Amino acid sequence: MRRKLLLGNWKMNKTPTEAVEFAKEAKELGKLARSNKVDMGVCVPAVDLAPVKKILKNTLIVGAENCHYEEKGAYTGEISIPMLKDLNIDWVIIGHSERRTYDNETSEKCNKKILALLKNNMVPVYCCGESLETFENNGTREFVKEQIITGLKDVSKEDAMKVVIAYEPIWAIGTGKNASTEIAEDVCGYIRKVLRDIYGAKVANKIRILYGGSVKPNSVKAYLSQKDIDGALVGGASLDVNSYKELLTSYIY
Ligand code: PEP
Repeated sequence: MRRKLLLGNWKMNKTPTEAVEFAKEAKELGKLARSNKVDMGVCVPAVDLAPVKKILKNTLIVGAENCHYEEKGAYTGEISIPMLKDLNIDWVIIGHSERRTYDNETSEKCNKKILALLKNNMVPVYCCGESLETFENNGTREFVKEQIITGLKDVSKEDAMKVVIAYEPIWAIGTGKNASTEIAEDVCGYIRKVLRDIYGAKVANKIRILYGGSVKPNSVKAYLSQKDIDGALVGGASLDVNSYKELLTSYIY
């Protein structure tokens, strides 16, 4: 049985002061999620990690939005895995489409990051998803398959079970235009088939696959009721404690 997971992605939003305000209000939210057997958390900008983790340490998961694959060195502006570990941060989003688009994040680069995270017993949340053009040309499956195969290259069976995959069609992120539950389930089911072909059914059935793209309180339950959708990666709706709480309560009640 795969436990449901709601993970927020703040992107480049919230100063440390604003992040602390959110964290103080969100403590109760973590307890509510836990008592309903839902894993819940927020991935936040690098400067917000330390203060938010300090407040939310035993309640919500606090994750980073990116990391570098090298341990240290001449990579100005980057964040290393040891830096994250020092803050007890174990979860990291890898390969978000915005990073793929604006920061030249390729699946090969994502693969290096995923391998480095797994070596450190951390959880990569690996994002994949196609553009509107690819979707309209019926190229989604082929595109996503390539992202999964390249991103997970050399990841062992044992480590693969620790990875979380997030299917996020680019045309649905921050646009208010979500993929229908049928489309989302079709692609997430296909991703599980790709995982099954690589790792076998036992491992593929343990890997959590999230849907992301304009998930809101009125749509969350329908997504999470699908067989192959184990949760949601949430942008806009995770920025406000009340709307994030509404997302959780819409799912559990
Ligand atoms: C995201 O940032 O990964 C995302 C899904 O954003 P939104 O929910 O705002 O579409």
